[in-house]
Amino acid sequence: MCGIVGYCGKLKAIPFLITGLKRLEYRGSDSRGFAVQNDSSTSIHKTIDLRSPPPDLDGHIGIGHTRWATTGKVTDTNAHPHRHKGVSVVHNGIGGVYKNLKEELLKLGHSFCSETDSEVIPHAISEWGIEEAIKRLGDDCGAFLVMDDADPNKIWAYSDGA
Ligand code: GLU
Repeated sequence: MCGIVGYCGKLKAIPFLITGLKRLEYRGSDSRGFAVQNDSSTSIHKTIDLRSPPPDLDGHIGIGHTRWATTGKVTDTNAHPHRHKGVSVVHNGIGGVYKNLKEELLKLGHSFCSETDSEVIPHAISEWGIEEAIKRLGDDCGAFLVMDDADPNKIWAYSDGA
Protein backbone atom coordinates (compact mmCIF):
# COMPACT_ATOMS: atom_id res chain seq x y z
CA MET A 1 0.00 0.00 0.00
CA CYS A 2 1.18 3.47 -0.68
CA GLY A 3 -0.11 6.94 -0.22
CA ILE A 4 -0.67 10.04 -2.27
CA VAL A 5 -1.04 13.59 -1.06
CA GLY A 6 -1.53 16.95 -2.73
CA TYR A 7 -1.44 20.59 -1.66
CA CYS A 8 -2.75 23.57 -3.58
CA GLY A 9 -2.90 26.86 -1.69
CA LYS A 10 -1.16 30.07 -0.71
CA LEU A 11 1.62 28.60 1.42
CA LYS A 12 4.73 26.67 0.45
CA ALA A 13 3.59 23.19 -0.55
CA ILE A 14 6.48 21.00 0.55
CA PRO A 15 5.93 21.10 4.36
CA PHE A 16 2.30 20.00 3.82
CA LEU A 17 3.37 17.21 1.50
CA ILE A 18 6.00 15.96 3.97
CA THR A 19 3.48 16.02 6.85
CA GLY A 20 0.91 14.22 4.70
CA LEU A 21 3.34 11.48 3.72
CA LYS A 22 4.46 11.05 7.34
CA ARG A 23 0.83 10.42 8.29
CA LEU A 24 0.70 7.71 5.66
CA GLU A 25 3.93 6.03 6.81
CA TYR A 26 1.99 3.33 8.72
CA ARG A 27 0.93 1.90 5.34
CA GLY A 28 4.54 1.01 4.54
CA SER A 29 6.63 2.18 1.61
CA ASP A 30 9.79 1.49 -0.34
CA SER A 31 10.37 4.88 -1.96
CA ARG A 32 8.97 8.37 -2.05
CA GLY A 33 8.77 11.38 -4.30
CA PHE A 34 7.48 14.90 -4.80
CA ALA A 35 6.57 17.19 -7.69
CA VAL A 36 6.20 20.89 -6.93
CA GLN A 37 4.99 23.37 -9.49
CA ASN A 38 6.28 26.92 -9.57
CA ASP A 39 4.57 29.03 -12.26
CA SER A 40 4.61 26.72 -15.24
CA SER A 41 7.65 24.64 -14.40
CA THR A 42 7.85 21.66 -12.08
CA SER A 43 10.63 20.27 -9.89
CA ILE A 44 10.69 16.54 -9.26
CA HIS A 45 12.51 14.73 -6.48
CA LYS A 46 12.22 10.97 -5.95
CA THR A 47 14.31 8.41 -4.14
CA ILE A 48 14.40 4.94 -2.63
CA ASP A 49 16.49 6.34 0.25
CA LEU A 50 13.75 6.95 2.77
CA ARG A 51 16.27 8.18 5.34
CA SER A 52 17.52 11.01 3.14
CA PRO A 53 16.28 14.50 4.03
CA PRO A 54 13.26 15.60 2.02
CA PRO A 55 13.90 18.25 -0.64
CA ASP A 56 13.22 21.95 -0.16
CA LEU A 57 11.32 22.77 -3.34
CA ASP A 58 9.73 26.15 -3.99
CA GLY A 59 6.12 26.39 -5.05
CA HIS A 60 2.57 26.54 -3.73
CA ILE A 61 1.23 23.48 -5.50
CA GLY A 62 2.54 19.98 -5.20
CA ILE A 63 1.93 16.26 -5.10
CA GLY A 64 3.70 13.57 -3.08
CA HIS A 65 3.87 9.80 -3.04
CA THR A 66 5.05 6.90 -0.95
CA ARG A 67 5.36 3.78 -3.10
CA TRP A 68 4.79 0.13 -2.39
CA ALA A 69 5.97 -1.40 -5.64
CA THR A 70 3.48 -3.58 -7.47
CA THR A 71 4.73 -3.24 -11.03
CA GLY A 72 8.47 -2.88 -11.46
CA LYS A 73 11.37 -3.05 -9.05
CA VAL A 74 12.20 -0.68 -6.21
CA THR A 75 14.36 1.88 -8.02
CA ASP A 76 14.67 5.65 -8.16
CA THR A 77 13.39 5.57 -11.74
CA ASN A 78 10.31 3.55 -10.81
CA ALA A 79 9.54 5.86 -7.86
CA HIS A 80 6.78 8.38 -8.45
CA PRO A 81 5.99 11.04 -9.65
CA HIS A 82 6.04 9.96 -13.27
CA ARG A 83 6.10 12.69 -15.84
CA HIS A 84 5.59 13.18 -19.55
CA LYS A 85 5.28 16.40 -21.54
CA GLY A 86 4.68 18.53 -18.46
CA VAL A 87 2.13 16.14 -16.93
CA SER A 88 3.20 14.85 -13.47
CA VAL A 89 1.38 11.96 -11.80
CA VAL A 90 1.45 10.11 -8.48
CA HIS A 91 -0.55 6.86 -8.47
CA ASN A 92 -1.82 4.53 -5.79
CA GLY A 93 -2.92 1.11 -7.00
CA ILE A 94 -2.53 -1.15 -10.00
CA GLY A 95 -3.50 -0.03 -13.49
CA GLY A 96 -5.43 -3.04 -14.77
CA VAL A 97 -5.42 -2.19 -18.45
CA TYR A 98 -1.98 -0.62 -18.51
CA LYS A 99 -0.39 -3.28 -20.73
CA ASN A 100 -2.92 -2.71 -23.52
CA LEU A 101 -2.60 1.05 -23.21
CA LYS A 102 1.19 0.86 -23.10
CA GLU A 103 1.18 -1.18 -26.32
CA GLU A 104 -1.10 1.37 -27.93
CA LEU A 105 1.04 4.30 -26.77
CA LEU A 106 4.23 2.57 -27.93
CA LYS A 107 2.69 2.24 -31.39
CA LEU A 108 1.94 5.97 -31.29
CA GLY A 109 5.64 6.66 -30.71
CA HIS A 110 5.77 7.05 -26.93
CA SER A 111 8.78 5.72 -25.05
CA PHE A 112 8.85 4.86 -21.36
CA CYS A 113 11.69 5.09 -18.87
CA SER A 114 10.24 3.13 -15.94
CA GLU A 115 8.86 -0.40 -15.52
CA THR A 116 5.71 0.80 -13.79
CA ASP A 117 2.07 0.67 -14.80
CA SER A 118 1.77 4.21 -13.41
CA GLU A 119 3.96 5.82 -16.09
CA VAL A 120 1.25 5.01 -18.62
CA ILE A 121 -1.01 7.61 -16.94
CA PRO A 122 0.90 10.82 -17.83
CA HIS A 123 1.48 9.47 -21.34
CA ALA A 124 -2.22 8.69 -21.77
CA ILE A 125 -3.17 12.16 -20.48
CA SER A 126 -0.75 13.95 -22.79
CA GLU A 127 -1.98 11.87 -25.74
CA TRP A 128 -5.74 11.96 -25.21
CA GLY A 129 -6.50 14.60 -22.53
CA ILE A 130 -7.52 13.82 -18.98
CA GLU A 131 -11.15 12.81 -19.51
CA GLU A 132 -10.48 10.46 -22.40
CA ALA A 133 -7.42 9.04 -20.61
CA ILE A 134 -9.55 8.21 -17.55
CA LYS A 135 -12.07 6.38 -19.78
CA ARG A 136 -9.27 4.38 -21.36
CA LEU A 137 -7.57 3.59 -18.04
CA GLY A 138 -10.66 1.68 -16.95
CA ASP A 139 -12.49 1.69 -13.66
CA ASP A 140 -10.01 -0.30 -11.58
CA CYS A 141 -6.88 1.78 -11.82
CA GLY A 142 -6.78 3.00 -8.21
CA ALA A 143 -6.28 6.66 -7.37
CA PHE A 144 -4.01 9.30 -8.80
CA LEU A 145 -3.20 13.01 -8.68
CA VAL A 146 -2.18 15.03 -11.73
CA MET A 147 -0.45 18.39 -12.23
CA ASP A 148 -0.11 19.76 -15.74
CA ASP A 149 2.39 22.53 -16.53
CA ALA A 150 0.18 23.58 -19.45
CA ASP A 151 -2.76 24.08 -17.06
CA PRO A 152 -1.04 25.33 -13.89
CA ASN A 153 -2.41 26.18 -10.44
CA LYS A 154 -4.58 23.12 -10.07
CA ILE A 155 -4.40 19.47 -9.13
CA TRP A 156 -6.65 16.87 -10.70
CA ALA A 157 -7.64 13.99 -8.45
CA TYR A 158 -9.14 10.67 -9.55
CA SER A 159 -10.21 7.64 -7.55
CA ASP A 160 -11.92 4.50 -8.76
CA GLY A 161 -13.72 4.44 -5.40
CA ALA A 162 -12.21 1.19 -4.16
N1 GLU B 1 1.49 0.25 -9.28
C1 GLU B 1 2.29 1.38 -8.92
C2 GLU B 1 3.77 1.05 -8.88
O1 GLU B 1 4.15 -0.09 -8.78
C3 GLU B 1 1.84 2.04 -7.64
C4 GLU B 1 2.13 1.19 -6.43
C5 GLU B 1 1.61 1.81 -5.16
O2 GLU B 1 0.37 1.85 -4.99
O3 GLU B 1 2.45 2.25 -4.38
O4 GLU B 1 4.56 1.95 -8.96
